[in-house]
Amino acid sequence: MSAQQTNRSEEPADDALLAVDELRVSFPGKGWRTPATEVLGGVSLAVRPGETLGLVGESGSGKSTIGRAVLGLVPVASGTIAFGGERIDHLGSARRRAMGRDLQVIFQDPYTSLNPSRTIGDALAEPLIAQGTDVRASRERIAELLRRVHLPADAAARLPREFSGGQRQRVAIARALAIGPRLIICDEPVSALDLTTQRTVLDLLLEIQETTGVAYLFISHDLSVVRFMSHRVAVIHHGEIVETADAESVTTRPHHAYTRTLLLASPVANVARQRERRAAARESGLLEQKP
Ligand code: ADP
Ligand code: MG
Repeated sequence: MSAQQTNRSEEPADDALLAVDELRVSFPGKGWRTPATEVLGGVSLAVRPGETLGLVGESGSGKSTIGRAVLGLVPVASGTIAFGGERIDHLGSARRRAMGRDLQVIFQDPYTSLNPSRTIGDALAEPLIAQGTDVRASRERIAELLRRVHLPADAAARLPREFSGGQRQRVAIARALAIGPRLIICDEPVSALDLTTQRTVLDLLLEIQETTGVAYLFISHDLSVVRFMSHRVAVIHHGEIVETADAESVTTRPHHAYTRTLLLASPVANVARQRERRAAARESGLLEQKP
């Protein structure tokens, strides 16, 4: 495989919307004598405008920490993060807030991301009002957002408890879209949903990308979901990117041993296909034959 197809950790591209370069993050140890733990050991990745970069790795590998560092929620020990060509790794809170327009996030848990006592309309109005949109214009915008995520118009008057997990995730998507971001960090956005609902939410995210040109940093522990969503995929293991390649070759010609392990762990609905895949992996020497 040529170096062009698979880079262990890529160089930031000039045309990148988001460029993370040699990012290191450590968390302090619990006691004063406990040394700090390095959670990210020099991570580089880039997301281009309109692109989905999938970030896949097992639980605890540091995926959310990357997203949180981009959002300014964890301190950066070293390395740089640039958005739209501008450094954002040490921004003050006022500049950070101003960036909220371009950079949004959707989290895993649709049950805690909405205030239970406020209507869906209030939740959607919040970013609009904060942005200076007047009440009438925001009402129109909310109706448009609800249409875009395929929720009924009367959803605006209802409370979160009246909605299922999948519908709440649609509200979270609508809220992230409210002020027209250029990048949405999706951190395990469908991991709490059942399989059928997962598919409809993923389809919605794809449809939105097609119509708005928004880019996604799409984080998941599930390689099959990441592959379905992404143009390119970065594989993270113990806080380091071990492989970055286009979505197709990551799953058909995995380069790194860890990617092959992930591939086998990724749930496949069809058991026969899983068996076939294992046989193929053994044949090609990707997987060691069990004695
Ligand atoms: P992932 O999203 O891939 O499951 P995380 O980025 O959440 O992984 O966590 C990576 C590692 O960092 C884990 O070992 C986790 O326990 C640790 N970690 C995450 N956040 C903190 C924190 N605020 N303080 C201390 N350790 C943390
Ligand atoms: Mg996580």
